[in-house]
Amino acid sequence: MVLVKRPVELTGSPTAPVFDVQRFSIHDGPGIRTLVFFKGCNLHCDWCQNPEAHDVQPTVAFYADRCQESFSCEEVCSEQAINRSGFRINVDRCTVCGDCVESCAYSALRLIGETLTPEELMDRILTDKPYFDSGGGVTLSGGEPTLYPKFVSRFVDLCARSGIHVGIETAGRFSLEKCLPFLEKVDLIYFDLKILDPHQHEQTVGKGLKTILSNAEYLAKNGFPVEFRMPLVPGYTDTKENIDAAIAFLKSIGHQKLHLLEYHNMGEVKIDIVQGKQRKLGLSRYTAERLAAIAQTFEQAGITPR
Ligand code: SF4
Ligand code: SF4
Repeated sequence: MVLVKRPVELTGSPTAPVFDVQRFSIHDGPGIRTLVFFKGCNLHCDWCQNPEAHDVQPTVAFYADRCQESFSCEEVCSEQAINRSGFRINVDRCTVCGDCVESCAYSALRLIGETLTPEELMDRILTDKPYFDSGGGVTLSGGEPTLYPKFVSRFVDLCARSGIHVGIETAGRFSLEKCLPFLEKVDLIYFDLKILDPHQHEQTVGKGLKTILSNAEYLAKNGFPVEFRMPLVPGYTDTKENIDAAIAFLKSIGHQKLHLLEYHNMGEVKIDIVQGKQRKLGLSRYTAERLAAIAQTFEQAGITPR
């Protein structure tokens, strides 16, 4: 991935940091979809599946299983940011120049994050358009895409011009005023509800709950194409208190459906790769019985699980 640092004023177009464009997804919306992952998030959940998305800034990822200990990376690093003992990249020294990535013959290093304009992103998306005939389209994910409202607005307009269906995934902590211009145009909004107790929410994901709930209520009560989702995380979001609170909240805003997203720990592997600060929870996956029981609890309360 080539890092392009380009200030907004030089291009006349808003920019945003993107760390991946994944093709041929059959999740995250209808049909065959292309997923765009933005870098940067305003929450920090310990169960995050994309720890490489947390920081807005580009980062260098290290894949230990590919490393042949040639240490050409160490030789080319003018900042002495690479420490071969235990292989650490000193993020305080690293300028993310990418020289080590170029030097590695084994693809053990990768630059994560590049700055794009909506037009540049659109150029990449358009190659996938034939697959969107499946009823698919683009889903903006992250990280938190609503951190870049000007970029997303422009990109959604470009998609509309090309007849491309757009979905967006959000954790809901955004400025409604800044985001309404594109929320009014997207075809699908996946809105995550995590922890419904304000104190626990702040303790667990690091930010308050009030804005999230008021945004959820606004979208649900004003006819937006919003679908709510809950990541099921053992001991965090699947407690009786949290499930009861989620049911009560959804009913209070007149919504009767909820996507349940099963916890898996694949994100924890990536924490080491990007030297992330995220805590490893070390939780086991759900049994089929436990998942069925959670789904039944929602169903019996009048909320249809998906
Ligand atoms: S250049 Fe690549 S293979 Fe060699 S030590 Fe660095 S990361 Fe490992
Ligand atoms: S990106 Fe540049 S500064 Fe950072 S470790 Fe690699 S060579 Fe050194």
